[in-house]
Amino acid sequence: MTLAAVADCIRQAQSVVALTGAGISTESGIPDFRSATGIYSQRQDAMELLSLSTFRRDPERFYRFFREAFLRWGDLQPNRGHRALAALEKMGKLRAIVTQNIDGLHQKAGSSRVLELHGNLQTATCHSCGRQYPMEVVRNDQAPVPLCPECHHPLQPDIVLFEQALPEQVVWAAVHAIENCQLLLVVGTSLTVAPACNLVDVRPPGARLVIINNDPTPYDPTADYIIRGSAGAILEELVNLLNL
Ligand code: NAD
Repeated sequence: MTLAAVADCIRQAQSVVALTGAGISTESGIPDFRSATGIYSQRQDAMELLSLSTFRRDPERFYRFFREAFLRWGDLQPNRGHRALAALEKMGKLRAIVTQNIDGLHQKAGSSRVLELHGNLQTATCHSCGRQYPMEVVRNDQAPVPLCPECHHPLQPDIVLFEQALPEQVVWAAVHAIENCQLLLVVGTSLTVAPACNLVDVRPPGARLVIINNDPTPYDPTADYIIRGSAGAILEELVNLLNL
């Protein structure tokens, strides 16, 4: 049984790090990007809409998509996959979650060390004066483009847009966590978005790589274990095995 073997590897590992993507949140009702029912299949221009150039050139168009696609996520709840990773942290096994997600569901499930590579939906920032506001300010603003209450420039949600660099300190913390892990648990990501996917390569020699994902990923040939299926069910079963 692959899952029992993975549970044994987790038992033996002093330090486990998880790298998660949109697939861990689909069971909470948030579409991923690249599955058949993902955001790209509905909106082929999603990548362009979520780019820095669109935000600068046509913030009204950016906000039409952002409001329709992202603002409702604030009301959604973590699923058993998020809860299983929080349980793994409480067992003293999971050192960190490095996530590409912006939905905040790992924290809602109780995980305390979450490194958000692509930012989050909690705040928005004015790049003219640097003031940061809770996302409620954007949510409650009826104007086509929410403006900074102080200097009246467009507010940018604190998510990393295409063409923007990742937050440096978070990347270094993620590199440090993965460099020091003995097992990297990859969950619900196509591992096609760079530079996040390249973090798989910084695991130390001898560290196990376990991939839990519905579809194949480019890193499958280097994995010690590949488990296909629902991330929620698999992670829950894994935690049950560890509790035996
Ligand atoms: P992706 O859409 O490229 O890949 C998701 C992967 O998850 C797919 O390979 C799919 O087979 C798998 N998957 C979907 N549901 C699953 C389930 N229930 N169980 C197991 N596997 C499942 O997502 P990505 O690799 O994270 O890259 C997308 C980018 O889009 C990220 O940068 C992320 O920031 C952003 N994004 C975030 C969210 C979120 O915050 N929840 C949602 C959509 C997109």
